[in-house]
Amino acid sequence: MNKRSHACCFLLVLFLAGATAAQSQTTSITAIKAGRLVDPETGAVATNQVILIEGEKIKAVGPDLAIPAGATVIDLSKLTVLPGLVDAHTHMALTYKEQPENNYYYLTYVMESSPLRAIEAASNGIQLLNSGFTVIRDVGNNAMYADTALRQAIEQGWLPGPTVIPSGPIIGSTGGQLWPTPEMYKEHNIVFPEYIDADSPAEIVKAIRQNMLFGARTIKLCVDCKPWGYSVDDIKLAINEAAKGGCKVEGHVQTPDGAQRAIDAGIYIIAHGNALTPEHHRQMAEKGIFLAGTDTPFTKYRGSEAAFKVTVAKLRDAWEKKVPLTFSTDFDYWNERMKDDKTGEWLTRGEMTIAFLQTWKAANIPPADVLRAITINGYKAADIIKERGPIKAGFFADLIAVSGDPLTDIDALRNVQFVMKNGMVFKKDGVMTPEKFFHPGPVRTPNGKWTR
Ligand SMILES: [Zn+2]
Repeated sequence: MNKRSHACCFLLVLFLAGATAAQSQTTSITAIKAGRLVDPETGAVATNQVILIEGEKIKAVGPDLAIPAGATVIDLSKLTVLPGLVDAHTHMALTYKEQPENNYYYLTYVMESSPLRAIEAASNGIQLLNSGFTVIRDVGNNAMYADTALRQAIEQGWLPGPTVIPSGPIIGSTGGQLWPTPEMYKEHNIVFPEYIDADSPAEIVKAIRQNMLFGARTIKLCVDCKPWGYSVDDIKLAINEAAKGGCKVEGHVQTPDGAQRAIDAGIYIIAHGNALTPEHHRQMAEKGIFLAGTDTPFTKYRGSEAAFKVTVAKLRDAWEKKVPLTFSTDFDYWNERMKDDKTGEWLTRGEMTIAFLQTWKAANIPPADVLRAITINGYKAADIIKERGPIKAGFFADLIAVSGDPLTDIDALRNVQFVMKNGMVFKKDGVMTPEKFFHPGPVRTPNGKWTR
């Protein structure tokens, strides 16, 4: 075949693929009967609503909508419907263990390959979707871009999973969060791909461009992982460069000084609440900087009572100061104690993620505010609020349903009965039904174009 006919063939295939996708999107209409529909932005509840979904998007929402003939009707009239949940800080392709790594995640880097970790990430995605998480921000420590690959695989229809907002490797000053030996650093370049060393302005720019080239949708900086961390000017430079690729910047912060530099630079999200003072909270609220506090609960498989008390007090203060809060976990570990007390079954990563509600309850944060943090604020922090989140016409149909009322009992979110993502049903009557998500080829391309 000569070059020209090959190109024609290619175009024909593209055309046919486009036609098929368009057809399947215009012919499928789903009508959801929602007993109660929550708008987490306002805390308002509407009863007996109909949500019409055409293809991947919501077409109309209202109390008296006519259901078109031939539409698939889903009866959720006994349930509460709300937007899908968001974990604003997690690590899908990292799971360090007591054995063989002794909980030392540096060892995972050298003992588990990128392909293995990508498959772990795919499994974690399914587990999270099953617990109602339709969006996750996946912020580094994902081997060789397993996070951007996961996003692609889900978008292209290879398997179900949340919308992934990947950062690619974390960008930091020499060493990242590691303290490698000279021989491992100099002879084996051990810091990459978990971190990209970027010290000078030119290196920072290069690292950000590289991550965006390979599919990052957010940029993650180690602000103060080393005493030679980033200055206010370094962070401003990063924010400016990331904006060229449509990315916002999250800063990992572990010292009060680092927190202040991130705030002064006007960073978009600060990750980890431990180093933040009430004064930091006040400034974050003033500037509208999101907090991904990664608020670990005290459970039989993680944490300590003393650490939990500090976490709860910090979260409470951030809420009192009106910092824009997101629900975030930093989940990246596993051990033998992760079993359900009653059934003895292994807990899924989704169940352990939603278990972080324990911290929010201990901080006495009203359910309506928790709901806003785990939905609307998450969509804003992920910078996708214009296309996903609100259950309104024109938005992607990502929604879940629970029995009970999460506005009075936030633990209702622990028992998700129904999950829809991109207009497709993933879970119904408490049971996963993900067949439609799996496709033996990359057919689902958002906006009709290929994306990384
Ligand atoms: Zn993290």
